Amino acid sequence: MALKDAGLNIVWIDKATFPRDKVCGDAIPSNVQRVLKSIDGSLNEKFLQHFTEKVQVEGCRFIAPDKTSFDLSFVTKGHAAKRLHFDHFLFNMAKECNSHVSFIGDASVESIVNSATDVTVRLADGRTIEGQVIVGCDGANSIVRKNLAQPFINKKENIAAVRAYYSNVADLEHKMLEIHIIKGYMPGYFWIFPLPENQSNVGFGMVNRFITNRRIDLKEALKEIIHKDKAISPRFSQATIDGVISGFGLPCGGRKNPISGQRILLCGDAASLINPATGEGIGNAMISGRMAALHIINSFQANNFTQSFNVQYDNMVYSKLLGDLRIQHWLQRITADREWLINFALKHVSNNNWIRQKVRKFF
Ligand SMILES: Cc1cc2nc3c(=O)[nH]c(=O)nc-3n(C[C@H](O)[C@H](O)[C@H](O)COP(=O)(O)OP(=O)(O)OC[C@H]3O[C@@H](n4cnc5c(N)ncnc54)[C@H](O)[C@@H]3O)c2cc1C
Repeated sequence: MALKDAGLNIVWIDKATFPRDKVCGDAIPSNVQRVLKSIDGSLNEKFLQHFTEKVQVEGCRFIAPDKTSFDLSFVTKGHAAKRLHFDHFLFNMAKECNSHVSFIGDASVESIVNSATDVTVRLADGRTIEGQVIVGCDGANSIVRKNLAQPFINKKENIAAVRAYYSNVADLEHKMLEIHIIKGYMPGYFWIFPLPENQSNVGFGMVNRFITNRRIDLKEALKEIIHKDKAISPRFSQATIDGVISGFGLPCGGRKNPISGQRILLCGDAASLINPATGEGIGNAMISGRMAALHIINSFQANNFTQSFNVQYDNMVYSKLLGDLRIQHWLQRITADREWLINFALKHVSNNNWIRQKVRKFF
């Protein structure tokens, strides 16, 4: 979408066809609307008016291990929608607004050769596509990232999480996300996020190094919380699971890894830009996508696709996101396994108006 007026020929390749599911908590942060507006106000209007398969989210309820709770109301309201629907909506909007895009679906990228003169993508079915630059928006297990001079992965710091859809969870707080930190399941968090038609996205996630050290089975942990936690299990007594529990990785930000190379730019999860404290990554994926588009326009103007020129893209992304990602990473580290600290922090945030206002600005 951000290249809609650039006049460039774009080939969009995805191993899936749309609509396709994506394992996610389905909370769509408010910065998504800011990105859409910054590209073109009409895109955000379309999202607000025509995308109906969403609920508005006005805040988040945090529940500490001692069950102290704190309601944070968002400065700008967000939404929640199944990624099946939200991504399909974005897909259609992107195709509609850019007549220079050809979409190749059901096409897995198998390898990439990036040379000084062009970049060639080879698909699993043997087809090849040549271009001037490739943007890797190919998620946590990015193939494109492997072609960087120093491919990175913050394996230990990343998060893994599982989620399932449930109908009829009781006592849902209207328009609120719920994040529970649960005794015996730390450091990690359990969530219940509201969706249309009385459905909820219910999930549990943890930092990888704890999953490995403690041999945690996330799917079992999710089931145990739902069946055994005294505050949570009564709310699921009439609830039914829709489908199965599915899991995926969350590549988190906080380090200044190189996210570009010769004729290569990475966005979103491929660039490890997820908020390590909350697990949100949709907003940063879209912010980096918009920046990649701006940088590509500059690259074509300067006819320069070199690694040294593309460092400008890294700088653009990190000057916007790295400060917050580092704070979020630090927050994740200091609260991990410190039950008393989370109880203490949530009590004081809920009792102190000044701290509430400060925290509010952070979300
Ligand atoms: C359990 C869980 C809960 C989460 N909850 C939230 C949340 O509530 N809110 C939030 O903001 N974020 C959340 N996230 C993070 C969020 O899902 C990601 O940050 C976001 O989807 C990143 O978008 P992306 O476009 O970078 O990657 P993706 O959404 O993963 O998209 C990657 C695309 O690349 C395609 N692809 C991959 N490999 C290839 C290949 N070889 N060839 C061709 N195509 C390929 C895929 O089919 C896919 O369409 C959660 C993540 C998980 C796992």
